[in-house]
Amino acid sequence: MTEFERYRYNKSVYVAAIGKCGACYICVDECPEGAIEKSEPVKVDYNKCTRCMKCVEVCPSGIMQIID
Ligand code: SF4
Ligand code: SF4
Repeated sequence: MTEFERYRYNKSVYVAAIGKCGACYICVDECPEGAIEKSEPVKVDYNKCTRCMKCVEVCPSGIMQIID
C-alpha cells in the first residue's frame, strides 16, 4: 500500500497548503468535493474534504501536504 493510500483511509489526517502556492488552481479543478477555495494560498474546507489525496498528487509545487 502506498503512502497516499494509507492516508486515504486515515480520517485523522488533514490536507494543508504549506509553502509557496503558485495559485495555479490545478488542485481546485481536481478536487472531486469542491473543497478547495481559490485563495493564495488555497484553503481546504475540512467539512467537505474526504482525504482522497488527489490534490496532494497533482500539486506541481508539492506543497499540498498531510498534517496531523
Ligand atoms: S496545485 Fe499547488 S500550487 Fe497549484 S493552487 Fe493548488 S496548492 Fe497552489
Ligand atoms: S484530499 Fe481530496 S477532497 Fe480533500 S481537498 Fe484534496 S482533492 Fe479535495
